[in-house]
Amino acid sequence: MASINKLSLSAKIFIAMILGAIAGLALNIAGNPEWSQIWLIDGVFKVVGQIFISLLKMLVVPLVFVSLVCGSSSLSDPKMLGRVGGKTIGLYLLTTAIAVCLALSSAIIFKPGVGAQPISKVDTQIAEATPFTQVLIDMVPTNPVAAMADGQMLPIIFFAVLLGISITLSKEVGVRVASWFNDMNAIIMKLVTLVMGFAPYGVFSLIAILAATSSADSFLALGKYVGLVFAVLFIHALVVYPILFSMLARLSPMKFLFKLRAAVLFAFSTASSNATIPVTLETVEKRIGVSNKVASFTIPLGATINMDGTAIMQGIATGFIAQYYGIDLSMSQYLMVVVMVILASIGTAGVPSVGLVVLAGVLTQVGLPAEGIALILGVDRLLDMTRTVVNITGDSMVTTVVAKSEGELDLDIFDDPKAGVIYDR
Ligand code: ASP
Repeated sequence: MASINKLSLSAKIFIAMILGAIAGLALNIAGNPEWSQIWLIDGVFKVVGQIFISLLKMLVVPLVFVSLVCGSSSLSDPKMLGRVGGKTIGLYLLTTAIAVCLALSSAIIFKPGVGAQPISKVDTQIAEATPFTQVLIDMVPTNPVAAMADGQMLPIIFFAVLLGISITLSKEVGVRVASWFNDMNAIIMKLVTLVMGFAPYGVFSLIAILAATSSADSFLALGKYVGLVFAVLFIHALVVYPILFSMLARLSPMKFLFKLRAAVLFAFSTASSNATIPVTLETVEKRIGVSNKVASFTIPLGATINMDGTAIMQGIATGFIAQYYGIDLSMSQYLMVVVMVILASIGTAGVPSVGLVVLAGVLTQVGLPAEGIALILGVDRLLDMTRTVVNITGDSMVTTVVAKSEGELDLDIFDDPKAGVIYDR
């Protein structure tokens, strides 16, 4: 028992994940007897898993708001915000463009949709991607409290940054308020640490449900599609990011990726970049060494507008669906897909499965049958979990690169394998 307590939190979460998979598979192989369906899958596991996700979501709005007010009120040079914003958005768009181009080329080369035989057809919701002009308009909240109540990230970011800047401009009054926000930030970070203690149980339950309820048949039927999405996700995370990272930050990508492991485990088990914000933020600040000024702005922004993993799935899925229906896409349609996928990822929040729903809008735009989504729905959950890992890795990579370029990265923390005590005690 004592030795279990000595394990770092990420090690505990990892063990919980493996045990959850074993427990779930055992139930799956036993044919999910009625008692386990009632008492475990729809009972204990569901309650614990959902409570864990709710706890994480509970933290997101207060954490992003307070942390971002602290970050923007501590900017000594207001121009820095514009520079950080410009670089961050530029890199977010660039990495998403690389992701979708990689995905489309691999779909063209490997043709996952030719001869695919999906086993079942299911109804799916079809949602239009929000037009980019509307995304811009919606960014300015008419009512910041309503934006917080609805958890809309872009308007919250907008309001918090303006409030932070006003605090700085308000001289002595501002100093008092800024110190209150700083205290509050420390308290919310403590709350994050408390919630993280519950993570191994939550992760165990979420993975157990997944393993108990997934069927291998659907994966086999769509083997080529699933394999290709996995392969491109891995290439993007383990080849494209490291190359960009070492070129732009001139630091070891291995150290960076290794330090990200707690956030990776959270993203994988929750399939939501939004719910993972508290962990991503703590990780890049405490483990990697990015200052709060930069991270409090770029991480929530990235969770909302930067979704490289999602773009990869959407690119390959578009190719897959076109091939399945025997439709040849022209070069201009491919270009349209690239632009649509980038714009669509900007307007969508990082929550589970949203990538698939948005894909419907992309398909309609390029004239492909949106019902095609039903073909890949059955295998999406595991892909969703994996692409969420890529999404948050991209956010953290860009954040670190931008922080380094602004002199806002503490290299002592970056180089210290033990920095960031809360996850790896
Ligand atoms: N689940 C993804 C995220 O939260 C979005 C998606 O691809 O569905 O980042």
